[in-house]
Amino acid sequence: MDFELNEDQRAFAQTAQQFAQESLMPMAAQWDEEQLFPKSVLQQAGELGFMSLYTPEDQGGLALSRLDASIIFEQLAMGCTSTTAFMTIHNMVTWMVASFAQEAVKAHFCPKLITGEWLGSYCLTEPNAGSDAASLTTSATKQGDQYIINGSKVFISGAGDTEVLVVMARTSDDGAKGVSAFVVPADAEGISYGRKEPKMGWNSQPTRSVTFEQVSIPAEYLLGEEGQGFIFAMKGLDGGRINIATCSVGTAQHALNAALQYVQERKQFGQALAHFQGLQFKLADMATELVAARQLVRLAAYKLDQGDPEATTYCAMAKRFATDVGFNVCDQALQIFGGYGYIKEYPLERHFRDVRVHQILEGTNEIMRLIIARRVLTEGTQIL
Ligand SMILES: Cc1cc2nc3c(=O)[nH]c(=O)nc-3n(C[C@H](O)[C@H](O)[C@H](O)COP(=O)(O)OP(=O)(O)OC[C@H]3O[C@@H](n4cnc5c(N)ncnc54)[C@H](O)[C@@H]3O)c2cc1C
Repeated sequence: MDFELNEDQRAFAQTAQQFAQESLMPMAAQWDEEQLFPKSVLQQAGELGFMSLYTPEDQGGLALSRLDASIIFEQLAMGCTSTTAFMTIHNMVTWMVASFAQEAVKAHFCPKLITGEWLGSYCLTEPNAGSDAASLTTSATKQGDQYIINGSKVFISGAGDTEVLVVMARTSDDGAKGVSAFVVPADAEGISYGRKEPKMGWNSQPTRSVTFEQVSIPAEYLLGEEGQGFIFAMKGLDGGRINIATCSVGTAQHALNAALQYVQERKQFGQALAHFQGLQFKLADMATELVAARQLVRLAAYKLDQGDPEATTYCAMAKRFATDVGFNVCDQALQIFGGYGYIKEYPLERHFRDVRVHQILEGTNEIMRLIIARRVLTEGTQIL
């Protein structure tokens, strides 16, 4: 067992760190304030391979492991949480199309998804189907060589500004087994988008509802076979949970770094804040919990890479733990900055707002506990 990054991983991390410092960090506050979606920067990220990190090589992706991708996303998240989180969703969409579409369909969509020229959204959640995603009602009805899609999705990241949608829709009444996945051009006739949702954080990417009214797509845009959609959606979410957990770890590391610097510089009662044991203990706990979160995320990524049968449970554990730790570390770092932590001149309040949603999406942390509890309570088996 080796816990050190290998040479390649260190090189990936360095490239990502440079991109984060040069192209994300200087702009992150402005993107947040003005709610700008930095599409040209996402294309630059595409040129470096960041938009298709684990997409198979035969489709033009880098075919990296989930562990490698996590190491890269962590560095990127230190530059801009919200933009990196969008990149992770785009990676999930690109991987799904490249893995499950028919060859001709892959050839149509993948080249532009990989470069970031086209951006992708993942459409699972509906107004009445959030945590209980398998109860979704958006329908896809086969008519000759077309599917006709009707229904609506909510909270869709990037929607209205992306070119490609991966849509989960019902092809039969058979619960989760009746859900199928489709790749849908975002400008297909009959698709309309809601207003850009005003949000607490994640402001460098738009969130909108999507309505499908008699949207007709070629039958070959079905991913895999009818009824496999929910399996794909959950497979996507295992990796998605690692990615979101990683965005929390990267952001929290950035917040902790800022706090460590601040306590050396800021003086009260005639001495640097760093001299107060109350703050030293707080910083020690933040660092310890952050390391534990990172290691759990990497363990879950490793399990997913190995095709370990327990991977889903570990991904849920990592997502729950790292997003809770990430939020707490950002909160404590803000506290250490005192009043300055609360004002926008410093990035602490943005970090706090951005990581909050990680406890909600890609399955809420209550749903993560449900997945873990179901597994640990299975009789006659033990999870190690
Ligand atoms: C900014 C943002 C971006 C998003 N992006 C996307 C996207 O790109 N694509 C997409 O498909 N979705 C997206 N989502 C949706 C997100 O995944 C859902 O909001 C999330 O899954 C929760 O669903 P819900 O909001 O309907 O809450 P609900 O399911 O209504 O849950 C409400 C509360 O009840 C709790 N709860 C529910 N069931 C149980 C239970 N059995 N036991 C205990 N507690 C329970 C939940 O944990 C939660 O606290 C996004 C959401 C946000 C806010």
